[in-house]
Amino acid sequence: MARLIGAIGVSHTPTIGYARDRDLSSDPVWAPIFEAFEPLKDWLAEQKPDALVMIYNDHVTAFSFDHYSAFALGVGDDYPVADEGGGPRDLPSVPGHADLARYLGRAITAQDFDLSFFQHKALDHGCLSPLSLLTPPEEGGWPIPIVPLQVGVLQFPAPSASRCLRLGQALRRAIDSWPTDARVVVVATGGLSHQVHGERAGFNNTQWDETFLDLLKDDPERLAAMTHADYARLGGFESAEVIMWLIMRGALSDDIVCKHRAYYLPSMTGIATVLYEDQGADTPARERQRILEETQRQLAGVEALEGTYPFTLEVSAKAYRINRFLQGLIEPKARERFLADPQGSFTEAGLTAEEQRLIETRDWPGLIRYGAIFFVLEKLGAVLGVPNPQIYAAMKGMTLEEFLATRNAKISYSVARK
Ligand code: FE
Repeated sequence: MARLIGAIGVSHTPTIGYARDRDLSSDPVWAPIFEAFEPLKDWLAEQKPDALVMIYNDHVTAFSFDHYSAFALGVGDDYPVADEGGGPRDLPSVPGHADLARYLGRAITAQDFDLSFFQHKALDHGCLSPLSLLTPPEEGGWPIPIVPLQVGVLQFPAPSASRCLRLGQALRRAIDSWPTDARVVVVATGGLSHQVHGERAGFNNTQWDETFLDLLKDDPERLAAMTHADYARLGGFESAEVIMWLIMRGALSDDIVCKHRAYYLPSMTGIATVLYEDQGADTPARERQRILEETQRQLAGVEALEGTYPFTLEVSAKAYRINRFLQGLIEPKARERFLADPQGSFTEAGLTAEEQRLIETRDWPGLIRYGAIFFVLEKLGAVLGVPNPQIYAAMKGMTLEEFLATRNAKISYSVARK
């Protein structure tokens, strides 16, 4: 079984990244930030975990309000560094621990906690400002791969503090049930008291921040019972993001040891750093086994259905580029370009030779077997003037007439306008 070897809580203010990138560690104003992160950095370097689950919120950088989700788990191999308006920080892209992420996705969903999933999204300061101090990138890149968990705390309704604590408990059971010997650390980010908007901007409450840290360790259920308004009143409106720390706390048992705790208020946001080790029991073996079985139960048996290809996270990752390319054909400019210069548009999209061949030869069954989802094939069909029944027929190895003969109505249609 995989093991949770410890948990970290850190604020994620842009100041942290700013100070690091300008090497302000000897400046007395900034030094306390570096000093607070030092023991966490040393602990991680000594422990060498296999993965960090990074709980953070994006600040309308890679996630936006056309589709805003509560809990979004990154399941990719690699995450670029976000440009937040002034160019991306000079950091390498961050490796993702895709195997762990996809297992956690299945095991958390199996506990009736539905997540959304993302790939190839850039990480902003919510994740990268603390990460760059915790595990500074070396010659070969970042030393520890991550599993990012983005929490939608900016638009309301947002998940409650209570829901965050329960998600953390589900996360722990998921980690414990992964049948590998991986060693995992959960890192929660988020500023303590701060408010950055409106006339109340600049609000802080150091006393509350200290109380929050006490309760986090000794009485997280009390924190879980608080509303967003309670957090806003006590710590400033944007401090409500600190409910993300309850996901980390939920992953721990009641028997924890605090190995480090520091607090500093340099400007707008209370910067806290904590490190816990867990001395409690892991998830019981029977429960681990139940969750492991549950991760497989929903799709168990589909492999016996001939000609059926479930679109899983693994398939989605493998066929990401070709699905994205074909979905992109809903844009008039993209389809004009594709029709005028297919080779040029393939190259622009970075499609492999195999992916290009599948599209060029209109290999409908091959596209499905490769991992293209049907709903982008019908878009390609609409662009090419190929009706849906012709695609169905091709997938079944039939002529259109043979296929139509199996239907009650011999009709042809597509998702094209005409
Ligand atoms: Fe934030």
